[in-house]
Amino acid sequence: MIIKGHFPIESFKELDTPFYYYDLDLLRDTLDAVGDAVRRDPEFKVHYAVKANANPTILRTIAHAGFGADCVSGPEIEVALKAGFKPEKIVYAGVGKTDKEINLGLDHDIFCFNVESVPELEVINDLAGAKGKTTRVAIRVNPDVGAHTHANITTGLAENKFGIALTDLDRVVDMARALPNVELIGLHFHIGSQILDMTDFTALCNRVNSIVEHLETRGVEIKDINVGGGLGIDYKHPNHHPIPDFALYFATYRRHLKLRPGQNLHFELGRAIVAQCGSLISRVVFVKEGTKKKFVILDAGMTDLIRPALYQAYHRIENISSDSEEIERYDVVGPVCESSDVFGKAVDLPLTRRGDFIALRSAGAYGEIMASHYNCRQLPGAAFSDTI
Ligand SMILES: *Cc1c(COP(=O)(O)O)cnc(C)c1O
Repeated sequence: MIIKGHFPIESFKELDTPFYYYDLDLLRDTLDAVGDAVRRDPEFKVHYAVKANANPTILRTIAHAGFGADCVSGPEIEVALKAGFKPEKIVYAGVGKTDKEINLGLDHDIFCFNVESVPELEVINDLAGAKGKTTRVAIRVNPDVGAHTHANITTGLAENKFGIALTDLDRVVDMARALPNVELIGLHFHIGSQILDMTDFTALCNRVNSIVEHLETRGVEIKDINVGGGLGIDYKHPNHHPIPDFALYFATYRRHLKLRPGQNLHFELGRAIVAQCGSLISRVVFVKEGTKKKFVILDAGMTDLIRPALYQAYHRIENISSDSEEIERYDVVGPVCESSDVFGKAVDLPLTRRGDFIALRSAGAYGEIMASHYNCRQLPGAAFSDTI
């Protein structure tokens, strides 16, 4: 007996595939779980990392729950504001902020710019000065803490385009404090993504503690510490673990990060909030018998969900319309003219036929938002449990 997710198959029959299906009840339950885990810590501030999924309905649901937003571009700030996120709860990171993007943040008085280089700090100071404003900044520090995850999604190691090296921190802090139109409020970190080993976060806490202690001895007050995101999800078992262990995640920080009175601790969770509520739904175009293998060819491809092609990422594949007891082994592939357009090799599925619905699970994060027009393909649509 294969365990599958619950999907409104009858309604799917009316829709063009491929499309993302979002279970908004699960999203709301996930947001509640985050809320429960931080309720006793008013100094914990959770921002949703917009880059994981910027679908307007998803954004509105998260904004409605009272979360802040973590943006990495001007257009992300715009969609976040439009969805109802409050400017005073928006933080903005990114190594290549243009003048136009910085001005947008200044005009909306966002909470904080997470600054990644010296020239960026100078430009923010100049642009704020031109508007007669002073703006809050945090310095993004590269903490030199490795995360046990895929090399393409670690960001906290020494040789990296993100953040300021620890060895340069004192100099940059002094510079920030000397600039008239920026107020240095804190430090920002982000060590990577899909992290399930809490000792990675403990290592970050230890590093943050020693940096903050060092700055204190130099008379630098840090009001805001932002530890980024990165909490992973269970891609293998979305039906058993639909909601990540937020209690354990926040308890790790509560236990290991030494917050001073009056300090706030900011989090930027993306994947952990939205991944499990989304599935990419596709139809089987053909079942092709190769010489040694059978191929299930979907109408969804790497243009709809690029993670398997880009990161060799695993997504659980379910045939949600076959009740066959007979199990067959298939390579599940997309139609795009690239040999990396493969969703899974040697996948055991119930006997699969042309026209069956296939769900690619845990696709709510870094799925729809990374879709492209390659091969002149249309972008995937979106359907929601509330309205289907
Ligand atoms: C991508 C990113 C996040 C979110 O990462 P997740 O792994 O999705 O939680 C948070 N902060 C910054 C700065 C990021 O670039």
